[in-house]
Amino acid sequence: MIEDKRVIEFLKKHKIKFKEIKHHPVHSCKEMAIAAKIKESEIAKSILFKTESGFALFVLPGNKSINERKFEDIFNEDIELAKPDEVEKIMGCEIGGVHPFGNLAGIKVYCDKDLLKNEKIYCSSSTTTTIEIKTKDFIDITKPEIIDMNVIKKGVKESLGLTTTRKENFSKWYLDVIRRGGFKDQRTPIKGFDVIMPWGYAVWEQIQNLMNELLKQNGVQNAYFPLLIPESFIEKEKEHFKGFKAETVNVTEVGGEPIEKMAIRPTSETIMYYMFSLWVRSYRDLPLKINQWCNVVRWDTKITKPFIRDREFLWQELHTAHATREEALKEIDNIIKICEKMGEYFAMASLPLKRTESDKFPGAEFSIAFDTLVQDGKVFQGPGGHFLAQNFSKAFNIQFTDKNGKKDYVWQTCLGTTTRQIGGIIMHHGDDKGAVLPPMLSPIQVIIIPVLFKGKESSILNVCKDVESKLKELKIRAQVDDRNYSPGFKYHEWELRGVPLRIEIGPVDLKKNEITIVKRYNNEEVSIKINEIDKIPKILDEIQKEMFERSKKFLKEHIHDARDMEELKKAIKNGIARANWCGSKDCEDWIKAKTGAAVRGTLYGRNEKPFAPCVYCNKNAKYVVYIAKAY
Ligand SMILES: [Zn+2]
Repeated sequence: MIEDKRVIEFLKKHKIKFKEIKHHPVHSCKEMAIAAKIKESEIAKSILFKTESGFALFVLPGNKSINERKFEDIFNEDIELAKPDEVEKIMGCEIGGVHPFGNLAGIKVYCDKDLLKNEKIYCSSSTTTTIEIKTKDFIDITKPEIIDMNVIKKGVKESLGLTTTRKENFSKWYLDVIRRGGFKDQRTPIKGFDVIMPWGYAVWEQIQNLMNELLKQNGVQNAYFPLLIPESFIEKEKEHFKGFKAETVNVTEVGGEPIEKMAIRPTSETIMYYMFSLWVRSYRDLPLKINQWCNVVRWDTKITKPFIRDREFLWQELHTAHATREEALKEIDNIIKICEKMGEYFAMASLPLKRTESDKFPGAEFSIAFDTLVQDGKVFQGPGGHFLAQNFSKAFNIQFTDKNGKKDYVWQTCLGTTTRQIGGIIMHHGDDKGAVLPPMLSPIQVIIIPVLFKGKESSILNVCKDVESKLKELKIRAQVDDRNYSPGFKYHEWELRGVPLRIEIGPVDLKKNEITIVKRYNNEEVSIKINEIDKIPKILDEIQKEMFERSKKFLKEHIHDARDMEELKKAIKNGIARANWCGSKDCEDWIKAKTGAAVRGTLYGRNEKPFAPCVYCNKNAKYVVYIAKAY
């Protein structure tokens, strides 16, 4: 073991007395405590984290568990666990054998105060060697920043409004809009499990309403399936299991007693298809189209981002079963139409892309996802559908008797839309004042703000209420904001939240029998007569269309043909590269490694002809693909 030497030489160089304990290879503190015959609380457990500004080493007693939230509090920024190859590269050792001498690798050390209560501590210099040193010596040579993980930092009240612009810091701008616009609050005790705030949830309800309408037009029924799924179910479809294993959270005990291992659903194919196998008997039972709205949990270890990468999120998952391949493929067309319609509601232009083999849904024959470009030049995956063929029906034995009395397995598809979409909408449409919601999605379409003057309060408020009820009759989601705040404060707040239309009514307007209308998406201000209120639905329709047109133009302007890697790198700086690809996974991986951008797929149903050789290997190209950095 090379590492033995480095740590030991380091200790010798600093004239530190230490004792070596040799044992069989161990991969956890528990194993180490048994092998070296020591207490777990005396072990200096070392964990390497990646922060936005670099790596950091956290050292804590072996019996204490990691709380990422507390680490984030210390750093005041997002963190993620370093990957095994990063640990090896930086610390020169395997996970399970990480030593606490971060300064040996030029990394700052943070140490929990409880560990330092021990007179001597134990640490690994490799998986087969445990070292005993005096705590005092450890502090002297590593000079750690001492932290107290028992203290829970309370969330703080924040100032209102945005603290940065999109250009200065897109990521921070996004977080500001999310929290201060009332969409989501991530100051929760567990990373990736956030609160969807009332305004954000109301947007989700809007998405649900629109989606439910489209699904029901397509003959879909809503149902609800259980949260817990036996692990043996998830194992049944091999690719599927492989794809989700690392992110799946399991329940293994109840009341302290072990129980059969059950997964908290990362997705519901396995439980739904088990039930499908009980329900489907003959061709008369097909097609079967069942949708559920629920939460799923996927323990992503990467840096979380509200809505965009959460560990728990909400979604709809539609699952269908059909008698023939053709019928299932036809359902894919229906799914695409639904996605396109939703795209119109989101006012987000997108590319329907057939994902590459390595990027498709685990267990699917092919996957289609709608990619939208957001303002920082990255793409964002919207709703997506999967053609599952008979992969799952064979694993779950969903058989039916066809018209000729012959048994066959059903053909399947699925479709999903998640709360992720809300993040995409904000990143796509937002501006330096906050979110900009398309009228179809905004929980409030028209906010009416009285500009009150002494002596005129009641007459102005009455007109406001009157306008509100007229708009409601016209089926517009309108609301008077009569809170005791200044009009300026209210303007800011509703702009931050993204309400598409603001009506201001003050004494001057009243005199002229007019109201002032301000469009959120382009700040245009117009006056209309009070008796022209019925024009407002049309104005909202126009805003919806104009936002969609603006989005289409933005997408078109940011797709560039790339014939070689130089052109590719240029194109992905602020958009999407349209390039040629030979189809090999090697080239796909190299493109990702060299540029950080991913091959997102081919335009579905278009069969575009290559216009140059493969952008990476220069051999004959088979496909025209779209390549971009992605969220
Ligand atoms: Zn190639």
